[in-house]
Amino acid sequence: MSAQPAADLVLYNGNVITLGQPAVARAVAVRGGRIVCVGRAEDVLNGAGAKAHRIDLGGRTLIPGLNDAHAHIWKIGQLLTTMLDLRRVGSMEELVSRVAAHGCALPPGAWLLGRGYNEAAMRERRMPTRADLDRADPNRPIVLTRTCGHICALNSAAMSRARIDAATDTPEGGVIDRDDRGEPTGVLRETAIGLINRAMPAPERGEYERMIVAALDHQLSLGITSSADCGVRPQLVDVYRAMDAKGALPSRVNVMPLRRVDGVASAVPLPERFVSDRLRVDTVKFLADGGLSGATAALSMPYRHTHSSGVLRFANGELHELCAESHRAGWRIATHAIGDVAIDQVLDVYERLGTHPRRIAHRIEHFGLPDARQLTRAKALGVIAAPQAIFIHELGRNFRQYLPDALLPRAYPIRAMIDAGIPVALSSDAPVVEDDNPLAGMMAAVTRIDGDGELIAPSQAITTREALYGYTMGGAIATGDEANRGSIDVGKWADFAVLSGNPLAESPGALTRLTVEMSLVGGRVVFER
Ligand SMILES: [Zn+2]
Repeated sequence: MSAQPAADLVLYNGNVITLGQPAVARAVAVRGGRIVCVGRAEDVLNGAGAKAHRIDLGGRTLIPGLNDAHAHIWKIGQLLTTMLDLRRVGSMEELVSRVAAHGCALPPGAWLLGRGYNEAAMRERRMPTRADLDRADPNRPIVLTRTCGHICALNSAAMSRARIDAATDTPEGGVIDRDDRGEPTGVLRETAIGLINRAMPAPERGEYERMIVAALDHQLSLGITSSADCGVRPQLVDVYRAMDAKGALPSRVNVMPLRRVDGVASAVPLPERFVSDRLRVDTVKFLADGGLSGATAALSMPYRHTHSSGVLRFANGELHELCAESHRAGWRIATHAIGDVAIDQVLDVYERLGTHPRRIAHRIEHFGLPDARQLTRAKALGVIAAPQAIFIHELGRNFRQYLPDALLPRAYPIRAMIDAGIPVALSSDAPVVEDDNPLAGMMAAVTRIDGDGELIAPSQAITTREALYGYTMGGAIATGDEANRGSIDVGKWADFAVLSGNPLAESPGALTRLTVEMSLVGGRVVFER
């Protein structure tokens, strides 16, 4: 294969896993941010020209830039900047003292926001309530979001700011937990979180920008060159547009606006569809149900530890109406659906939509508990799946405690999705999980081992190559970007990750021992260890 002249960058002496043609190469040449040659070192170097910058990979492995197809970028950034990170809290006492200590560093009266507690990982095995948080600080409003993002705990000061008391009506598609006397306990679920969202001050534009840059830099340190902000409010779409216009996005972002924002009475209008080299705004996000780890995903049977079988957030008619409008306007639709009841609802809605005017496929995010019949329907409708294998590792304990025996064997059935012919985009859903390292996600997809060493639905394991494909081409397919990223092929963006070793030669349980040594976006080194 001959290199084209005047490449401006050559990476050579590497083990190049292309996921394209040829499957394995030794060198890659880049010009103007795009791949112009892939092949043997001599050929690529000879054709590169004298002025090309050369990077000697020293035998390390070059892979396509990783793609986190479903993440919450600004929320990752919020935890990296202003928000209290509670993802490792092991007991109620620890939670209360961490919150109290964080409050000491804030101005008097300022809201204290935290995120990440998981009662299954806490000694008491229960969620914090207003009584716990009043002990931490009775004066300033405190709002803690559970790891799943679908449940919040408020102290009394936050409850009174949001005007939530015994007389408050429960919003449709939500739950206000109440004690025996009907008094709210401080725990809000699903759409009821809108009650507090309305009362909280929104971040300023500059704060949003700092959060986004912090999150994207963090992702680049993990080899993630394309990512998603799944479910943002209109103000944040504007922030991304402005950052893109001034060249402030260090990597490529798929921003998915919400149509329905908790706490806002009417549906959000569709923004302008927009696609540039770095920014894509052409997918709308809906949430059909809640999360498995917090038992709010809508199941066909009750959870083991409660009489509840989860929450559907939309009436069928309303979800269909909002989807139909988006579909007709040419948007891709991505709907969060985890429980089997929610999956049926979404498949019904997608089926009624008919052919897409731009012939693009809609997505189901998470797709946690589909049965064989639902997988067949999803395949027939051309649905793309965006599941998170990393949930097995981080939330497997919740699944084992909460899921009925009949459902555990089909939790996140990625093997069955691939076998059914459904395109699979792997992703982290961070900050719902703490570890958004794609190598950890790949490891979980291949080993199906949870944080306690227990196997979760082991027959749903996939191969390391399939997992790597899911984190690269899978994500590209899920945004319609397969012609410009996802593999190392001539004509695509020169987005790469350099790994310390070859993931395809590593034993699956040791994948996280590999490190990302370098990340490139458009042929520019944007992270180096
Ligand atoms: Zn999510």
